[in-house]
Amino acid sequence: MAERISETLQKKISERLSFYEGLGIQLFYRDRGAVTTSEPHLESPVPTRSSSPNVQKEQILPKPAAKPILPKSAPSLTPVIPKITSLPPVAGPSLFEAVDKIANDTLPQVRQDLGECTRCRLHSTRHTIVFGDGSPKAQLVFVGEGPGADEDAQGLPFVGRAGKLLTQMIEAMGLQRKDVYICNVVKCRPPGNRQPEEDEVSTCSPFLFRQIDVIAPKVIVCLGAVAAKTLLQTNRGISQFRGEWLEFRGRKLLATYHPAYLLRNPPAKSEVWKDLQKVMAVLGLEAKKGKSAP
Ligand code: URA
Repeated sequence: MAERISETLQKKISERLSFYEGLGIQLFYRDRGAVTTSEPHLESPVPTRSSSPNVQKEQILPKPAAKPILPKSAPSLTPVIPKITSLPPVAGPSLFEAVDKIANDTLPQVRQDLGECTRCRLHSTRHTIVFGDGSPKAQLVFVGEGPGADEDAQGLPFVGRAGKLLTQMIEAMGLQRKDVYICNVVKCRPPGNRQPEEDEVSTCSPFLFRQIDVIAPKVIVCLGAVAAKTLLQTNRGISQFRGEWLEFRGRKLLATYHPAYLLRNPPAKSEVWKDLQKVMAVLGLEAKKGKSAP
């Protein structure tokens, strides 16, 4: 009997599948125990461990020609919970280990996989995909929210007013833009500069995760709540953890206010500067002489 699952779990599964899809993974393999389901299209054609003992990895979901359990970007569908049986574990890496990091991934490869993306509705109003900019070997990665009008026009992140302030902050840290890497959670401009919606974030963020994995920076600075919430998977307000050292996939992460917020609230600049000084200490940087904090 098919069981219904909660919307929350449904959404998580959908996000997880979009995440794998973004990583270029479309086939799923039996790993820690076999999976069976009462879904007719998945029953008989699926090889079982006992029927093919020499098969180390048995494809179970989704078969290329079969209907997948959750089609791409369909959070509203009601998927069926596969029943887990207790077959002995199959040798080889777990699915999660397998997708944790893509071997030999590169930024050009991530960009190529992103393609002329139409995965979410943002594609219909954007002019240019804003992938990211800076050194692929940067020790410091800044992650913003999403491109604005200037970025959408130029194809580069943080080149508008907020971007100029970010550039000043980078220079005050004794660095130049070319020394760091700058990117956003979503690569296309949300119309009217609205915040990106949850499904847009979950569709686009696998590319961000890959960018970060490839660059392997020492420090990630999240600019604003959207970046922080995406990387930390939290709903806590940014003011609760701003300026604290946190972790993203084993890397140091610090969240600070978005430069656009600083344009509206200049007194908060001193808080951000304190945060960036913490980053400088970790990176062994000294503030550039003659450059004052913005
Ligand atoms: N705001 C962002 O979050 N990113 C940009 O690239 C520009 C403005």
